[in-house]
Amino acid sequence: MKVVLIDVDNTLLDFKLCSFHSMRSACEDFSIPFEKGMFDAFYRINTGLWHEIEKGDLTVEKLFEIRWNVIFKELGVKGVDGVEFEKDFHKYLNVSAVKVEGADDALDYLSKKYEVCVASNAPARQQQERMRRAGLDKYISRYFISEELKASKPDKEFFDKAFSTLNISPNEAVMLGDSPTADVAGAKAYGLKTVFFDAENAGNIAGADFVIKKLVEIKTVL
Ligand SMILES: [Mg+2]
Repeated sequence: MKVVLIDVDNTLLDFKLCSFHSMRSACEDFSIPFEKGMFDAFYRINTGLWHEIEKGDLTVEKLFEIRWNVIFKELGVKGVDGVEFEKDFHKYLNVSAVKVEGADDALDYLSKKYEVCVASNAPARQQQERMRRAGLDKYISRYFISEELKASKPDKEFFDKAFSTLNISPNEAVMLGDSPTADVAGAKAYGLKTVFFDAENAGNIAGADFVIKKLVEIKTVL
């Protein structure tokens, strides 16, 4: 094993907390009274939209166009331009860097044994900036980001492009992430070993080679 590919959101950075704080701040800017239930609606709708991206039914650009209009429609919030809100939300999200427990320790351990690369479906500058602010950038040798590769996990093309840069064969790499579809299924189909970060206790629904429930457990499998 030479290379560890690692997901960012909900694997290294706590997307739930990052997006909660970003949504609350943007609501303040737009004078929208914010309550926790609104975030739950965001999280559910947003997760569904990212699954559509994984299936190839939606693009990231299109998600940014429609996301908040869909959410505000469901919440009954009127008179807010979802595209403008998205820009404001992103202003906060781009600099949000709440870490998942054990992220430093896990990356410190992995980076001493393997080359560690990020593999993420997201805007490129946003992920690098958030990793830098979290102090995790120093462990990462390369970033494979869907926006730059013009392909998303779990597509074969995403891995084709990553491996053409890495110059190793897929069985010399392992993918670690929290998404059964984007992280585990795609990597497994491409011939990588897989580690499912099952923080939400879903069970090994994707048939990963290893399952961990806390990041620190990575030391027992890699
Ligand atoms: Mg993730």
